[in-house]
Amino acid sequence: MIPFNKPYLTGKETQYIEDAVKTGKISGNGKYTKMCQDFFEQHYGFKKSLLATSCTDALEMCAILADIQPGDEVIIPSYTFVSTAIAFIRQGAKVIFADSYSNNPNIDAEKIEGLITTRTKAIVPVHYAGVACDMDTIIELADKYGILVIEDAAQAIDSYHIGKDGRKRALGSIGHMAAFSFHETKNIISGEGGMLAINDDRFIQRAEIIWEKGTNRAEFFRGEVNKYGWVDIGSSFLPSEVIAAFLWAQIENINDIQEKRKNIWDAYYKGIKEMNSSLISLPVIPDYATNNAHMFYLVLQNIDQRTQFINNLKSKDIHPVFHYLSLHKSDYYKNKHDGRELVCSDKFSDCLVRLPFYYELSIDDVHQIVNTITIFYNK
Ligand SMILES: *Cc1c(COP(=O)(O)O)cnc(C)c1O
Repeated sequence: MIPFNKPYLTGKETQYIEDAVKTGKISGNGKYTKMCQDFFEQHYGFKKSLLATSCTDALEMCAILADIQPGDEVIIPSYTFVSTAIAFIRQGAKVIFADSYSNNPNIDAEKIEGLITTRTKAIVPVHYAGVACDMDTIIELADKYGILVIEDAAQAIDSYHIGKDGRKRALGSIGHMAAFSFHETKNIISGEGGMLAINDDRFIQRAEIIWEKGTNRAEFFRGEVNKYGWVDIGSSFLPSEVIAAFLWAQIENINDIQEKRKNIWDAYYKGIKEMNSSLISLPVIPDYATNNAHMFYLVLQNIDQRTQFINNLKSKDIHPVFHYLSLHKSDYYKNKHDGRELVCSDKFSDCLVRLPFYYELSIDDVHQIVNTITIFYNK
């Protein structure tokens, strides 16, 4: 059986967890948390990295830091995970859903300006499959209208955007802030886990306070203030050292993990391209984006073909899965949405299928999957 996902363990996870446990410091913000955060800041150029218990939590921190108030509007792609929206909904925001490109599930940057009003507080680009959104256009719009950019970089670790100025910048380092996920389905994992990245100095101090239940505890432990207490709202957003120790084992192997995943992605791409089928669309990676091999997906002609495709592969013990359902049509939001049709988002909801993708998937497995797909289409 070839499952859709299989979490990869580097082998050092339990050793580092044991070390964290033996040092007696297992709550948050200890040695492993600092090692992970330092790595992310140094390698990806975030001004501040704070580990979180999930990407959802990191997005909630973003919504608090952006000071989202009831009635504020936030522009979000409809083709995304629920968390991108609920973090802002919880603060009382009205979510304005935007459509995807026709050939790429990312938010269509050309369609954003028409959605901006005096109440717009933030744009939340989601880098689907770890492939960059058009950040040049999005940052220009944000600067023009004085709104914030919060990157949902859940899938985008170790992926880059190449600006018009030729500058290559890590995803998550471009917007005012960004959220990453280390859920077991992502490239590097800690079971559940996430990170907030802050790139604008104005938000750093408050981010640490919100992270530590509304207290200035982090400043106190650095000796910057001589007592700590309750200074703001917040929650318990920081993960324990047990989770950070697990994540550290993954970080140590990130180059190996990424190389392996890129080889799998390339093998899929080559194999499917050689089929030369007009019934299958391959993923499109714009010139301004790199590929972090987070997932490999195909876009089929319609929902019936996709259902047949998935059932056929499942009958051969291969487990592909579809992905998001347009959020503007969800039970929770359909009556709150303003009625605009978002046809590209709906197309990806109906037609996108993700193929098995994980570190231990062999190139032979990929060839077997591609063969099965070829036979299905030649029937
Ligand atoms: C995985 C994912 C999330 C949620 O991440 P968690 O760490 O599970 O909270 C949010 N947004 C996108 C785009 C994701 O892929």
